[in-house]
Amino acid sequence: MIKIYTLGTSAGTQPYPGSHHVSTALEINGSLYFIDAGECCGYTAYLSGADILFTRAVFITHPHMDHVGGLANLLWYVRKMTTGEGAREFPREALDIFVHEKDVYDAVMLLLKNTEGGFKCSYAHRPHFFEAGEIYKDENISVTAVPTSHMPPKDGSPQSYAFIIKADGKTLVFSGDINIADFETVLPEECDAFFIETGHHRIEEIRGGIDRYGKIVKRFYFTHNGGYIMLDKQGAKEKVRSVFGENAKVCSDGEIFELQ
Ligand SMILES: [Zn+2]
Ligand SMILES: [Zn+2]
Repeated sequence: MIKIYTLGTSAGTQPYPGSHHVSTALEINGSLYFIDAGECCGYTAYLSGADILFTRAVFITHPHMDHVGGLANLLWYVRKMTTGEGAREFPREALDIFVHEKDVYDAVMLLLKNTEGGFKCSYAHRPHFFEAGEIYKDENISVTAVPTSHMPPKDGSPQSYAFIIKADGKTLVFSGDINIADFETVLPEECDAFFIETGHHRIEEIRGGIDRYGKIVKRFYFTHNGGYIMLDKQGAKEKVRSVFGENAKVCSDGEIFELQ
């Protein structure tokens, strides 16, 4: 069973009430996996009832602030669970962090090193500066990174990625930030769930892209929502229903659901 927490559901917009920058967590067999770590994702996860001490890996699609701005804070909160009131042991020897850009990881850790107690932890932080391909596999999930054209390549290496995650016999795709033309390479022929950002395109354009490339998507989750959705969420929900029918959901912060 895959439990999904939509912790932050806004694109890199100005602040809107009740919506924070993008982050989703998957809980599988007691392990937590974060896909992107926008502002205050650790806080929202904790308040949503997720046991963030069981954070096993964090996967960052690309280094824009709305995807990485809450990473330091998430790691800080995890350590806090091992040192604060009612401290408990971190259950593993290391927490895995997947980020393409080494500078970003180094900056986050430098920030943390200057916080309380020099950020000394009873466990390690294990960075992975990934490229395209399968980047992670354990007994619960596998994660494959597929480049997107959202950011220009740097020194010949793609900087922005989507993730294809296989878990519990299902295929989930997290778009990261994406152009519609990337659907062709990012989406497998068929997937169970597509977490698609709406910050860079309209609902109808997403439908058009799916049809153009002949992909089968069983269920859509709209997240990383653009300002036009935040300003009229009810209107967006009606639009989604008219374009996609019942197999689509406009996500909000702090929702918890099982993958259908
Ligand atoms: Zn973004
Ligand atoms: Zn971006």
